[in-house]
Amino acid sequence: MARPDRRVNIAVARTIPPFLLCVCVYACYIVTKPLCIDYLIRPLPKYSRGSRVGAGIAILVIFYILIVVVIITYLRLLYNITRNPGFLPRSSPPTKEEQETEPSERPQRRKRKHRRTRTAEKPDKTDIDIERGADGKADGGAIPLDITGLESFYTKDVFVCQEDGRPLYCSTCCRYKPDRAHHCREVDRCVLKMDHFCPWVGGVVSETSFKFFIQFVFYTLIFCVFSLIICATFTAEIIQDTGGANVHLAIGIGLSSLFGLFSFGMTISSLQLAMWNLSTIENLNRRSAVWTLAIRVPDRMLARLNPESRWAPTFRTITYPLPPVPLSPEAARDYQPPEKQHVFAILQTLPGENPFDLGSPFKNLQQVLGYSIIDWFLPLKQSPCADRTTGDSFYELGPVVSRLKKEAGLNPPPESQPTTQNDTERKHKRRRSSHRQSQE
Ligand SMILES: [Zn+2]
Repeated sequence: MARPDRRVNIAVARTIPPFLLCVCVYACYIVTKPLCIDYLIRPLPKYSRGSRVGAGIAILVIFYILIVVVIITYLRLLYNITRNPGFLPRSSPPTKEEQETEPSERPQRRKRKHRRTRTAEKPDKTDIDIERGADGKADGGAIPLDITGLESFYTKDVFVCQEDGRPLYCSTCCRYKPDRAHHCREVDRCVLKMDHFCPWVGGVVSETSFKFFIQFVFYTLIFCVFSLIICATFTAEIIQDTGGANVHLAIGIGLSSLFGLFSFGMTISSLQLAMWNLSTIENLNRRSAVWTLAIRVPDRMLARLNPESRWAPTFRTITYPLPPVPLSPEAARDYQPPEKQHVFAILQTLPGENPFDLGSPFKNLQQVLGYSIIDWFLPLKQSPCADRTTGDSFYELGPVVSRLKKEAGLNPPPESQPTTQNDTERKHKRRRSSHRQSQE
């Protein structure tokens, strides 16, 4: 059964879009009839003022251009939220056989759950709620027997993992979660780079819609500021002339102030998150979050992993593909690991470090808004961070990962490869050109 707050969120989400439509229609009425027609273009006798056709038409043109822009960005946002919301498909639940063997693993899972309070996934109560899902089943711990769907992780160079090296797992959706995906209790699905469930637009703002959300709140802010200025200016004039205010214009001041303040707050906070390359959920514990990452050990360095080697590493490793479990003792003896193996170092960031921060607010903004000024202001192209055509990692990674690689000795020797910074630059350019091609 849906929890009360979840039901409230969904009810509000269904109510607010029609309410916003009514507000827009009323705003059009206020500016068109009481302000422009009855006061500026053909003033009513009670105002005892001359006609100001030019001012009236200019205000009407600017007002309708702005409201059309707001409506277009809102529709673009709604379209992406309903048609391309970034939901991950659910997997089938564990088989009966798997469930029967699970209890033996439970102490281990509880222990892991306790440890995970120090990781990026669960330090905040709100985040815990989201990760646990509505019924409390999705505890975020992995079902140890589940090895399906791991190919899309270990074929990358870096992915976010648990302390044992397996990707994060959602036991409500019964699947491993790509980096930055979170379980949304309102829609009961895991969502890619979920930002928040937004009742104002009636859905989940995620990697596919965050850019359009920013554009929507930004243009709403401009629209509200313009509406506030014209309503306040002419209300002051009317009070001076007649001693009383027009009720519609006074309501217009109230509505534009209210929505203006709200959109101002949302614009600033969304831009700030985009500049930090964080989602709203990740921001809840950004000062203390520790990310555990599985970072691919280059094949030529595998020999160094031998404990006998003088280069023996200090980090733990995990080798993919994982063997199918449970293996009987006989099967385990006969098990032949696949020829092509993918070995990953399990490394952790320092508290508060963000592996997705590209090192500059501008580069982080580009990941959300795009690479050109047209991308920034027009709600046309998808965010570059939602581009899945390049496969080194789920999202572009920044200097924190470069430093981790360097400290673990996973970087190529300097004489054979470009410097880390050049390497990052090269990857950045490759993603940009790939994003452009995918949009064409
Ligand atoms: Zn889920």
